[in-house]
Amino acid sequence: MALKYVEKRYIFIFVILSFFKSLQAAFIAVVSQQMVNWVNKPKLSYLFTIVVVALVGLIVFWLVSIFYQKIYFMVVRKINCNIKAIVSKYLIFSNNPSVELDTSFFTNDLKTIETDKIEAELQIITNVIQFITAIIASIAGSLPLTIVFMLASFLPGIFQRILGRNIEEKSKEWDKSNSKYTENVKETEMFSASARLYNTENNLWKRFKSSANTMEAALLKLNFWQGFTNETINTIAYSVITIAPIALGVYLVSIKNITLGTLIMVSQLSNNFVNPVIIISAYLNDMRVAKHMWKKIQDLSQKSNCLQNSKLGIDYFNGIELKDVAVAYKDKDVFSNVSFDIKKGEKVLIVAPSGWGKSTLLNTLLGNINIKKGRYLINGEDMTTDIKKVHNYFSYINQEPRLLDDTILYNITLGCKYDQNILNDVIHKAGLEDLIEEKGWDFKVGQSGSHLSGGQKQRIEIARALFFNRPVILADEATASLDPVLAKQIHETLLKEYHGTIIEVAHHLTTEEKGMFNKVIQFGN
Ligand code: ADP
Ligand code: MG
Repeated sequence: MALKYVEKRYIFIFVILSFFKSLQAAFIAVVSQQMVNWVNKPKLSYLFTIVVVALVGLIVFWLVSIFYQKIYFMVVRKINCNIKAIVSKYLIFSNNPSVELDTSFFTNDLKTIETDKIEAELQIITNVIQFITAIIASIAGSLPLTIVFMLASFLPGIFQRILGRNIEEKSKEWDKSNSKYTENVKETEMFSASARLYNTENNLWKRFKSSANTMEAALLKLNFWQGFTNETINTIAYSVITIAPIALGVYLVSIKNITLGTLIMVSQLSNNFVNPVIIISAYLNDMRVAKHMWKKIQDLSQKSNCLQNSKLGIDYFNGIELKDVAVAYKDKDVFSNVSFDIKKGEKVLIVAPSGWGKSTLLNTLLGNINIKKGRYLINGEDMTTDIKKVHNYFSYINQEPRLLDDTILYNITLGCKYDQNILNDVIHKAGLEDLIEEKGWDFKVGQSGSHLSGGQKQRIEIARALFFNRPVILADEATASLDPVLAKQIHETLLKEYHGTIIEVAHHLTTEEKGMFNKVIQFGN
């Protein structure tokens, strides 16, 4: 149930309001019954009373409906927020996510869950209540007539079960192609400049259109099948309820078993217990659309519970050792027999050709990738048992700086509390004083840091690495995309201003830059 993601008191209020709202149907039916029966004893003052009561009643039900709408959308909002909190927590906190989450999940799938799961559950509750109150009022009018109307209302449910199965299957196909389409949108946006460069706009355009077509075709299949199912059920329901029950009703009136007013009342009420059955079966179909997406949320929700900040106070750091380490992705071996010993405070450069596995090696040190063979020691202790915590020893400098579309300050501190003196020291060491003076701490860096130069972005990464004050900085080809002068400056900053251990990987550095390190380890050819 999606409703478990909102406080119970809201559901309680929602059920109460649904109940009062459902009385509207019975009220209108009784008013109609009284009006038709009035023909038998036409006293004008009584007609007037009925009309006044009807008007007052309708105003009261109008108010109830407004409150109902308000609480309905409040519940939807609360559940949406809670689900988004769970999903984003999983995305951010989980080290090795086993549930796949892409942009499409956050946009399309969560929207589908809103309409086809959360709203479906609320509508089912409302309609069940409507069904019950209408049927009770109808039985009060005439039992046999109600039974015939009710039997007619169950038929659609049977067909729903038969026709509904296909919908789930079609929904899965649509979800898959939608995911591909969203990725394609991102790719096309990113690649359009390259396509123009090589005069291949048409090909990129074709590629995009083909993915859009596939997605739309899958959506068409899903929508059509859903529509076909709902329309078929409607037709069956209406043809059955207009023939059998009305025939019985006029017969009962003719033998004076019921009044004409009661026939009108029951047939009007029958809408309110037949329609809910149709609506409920339509919503049950909708829920099939959302079923596999909802399963993802359930999986996540369980896993999210145990996720937390993996904070670890580090008392001391003395060195890292790898002994005959081998690492593989599934069945693809990346490297093997890697051994080195790095002591506290050393500045180490690891040189290896492109594709050798340098980034993989750094991710292994961070505990993001499992070791297939060999030993990984920090301070002489085996880390393979506690691999999730090793990241606390490291800062990391990416080849492509990773910046949030936020202020310079936030990009350095990532929202942590800070001491201004420490921060000033950090930006001094990272060579960012001029930038801060010119733009200020609250300057917005733009998407992926688009308002800054390559060197400034790299320096923010360095400032962040220094701010978090970890014993070891790992740098992944930190200067590979910068010009030689800037690359040298950045190396000077890092190697002179930071007194901890540095492990940098690169496929190529100048002899001068290599000379700045204490130790150069060469892998590959
Ligand atoms: P480098 O940083 O030295 O250029 P990488 O560590 O990025 O090399 O990659 C090493 C090898 O592992 C490459 O052959 C690459 O194709 C492969 N590889 C990298 N990441 C993955 C991954 N997530 N799954 C499977 N193979 C990968
Ligand atoms: Mg790499």
